[in-house]
Amino acid sequence: MNLTEDWCIACGVRNVTTEMKDIEFGLRIAPLGEQNSTVTLTATVPVLHCDVCNFDYCNYVADDIKEQVVNDFYKAVERQIQLRKAI
Ligand SMILES: [Zn+2]
Repeated sequence: MNLTEDWCIACGVRNVTTEMKDIEFGLRIAPLGEQNSTVTLTATVPVLHCDVCNFDYCNYVADDIKEQVVNDFYKAVERQIQLRKAI
């Protein structure tokens, strides 16, 4: 699978393979009436791997997917708040 036509950002060689991997990232949230806290979200993103210098990295595709995961997270939180209001 090759989602992008990228070359390695470390060595510049156009010999990059792409693999979908689950990555975890922290999202800082400030729930109402609670202290700031961080939730850990998981996104399945394409991780690019250079066969030449063995470097792993993500590009803007991963950022887009992470943004989507964050949006979904906030939608889910909003739904929960509305459910609580309905009770
Ligand atoms: Zn490389």
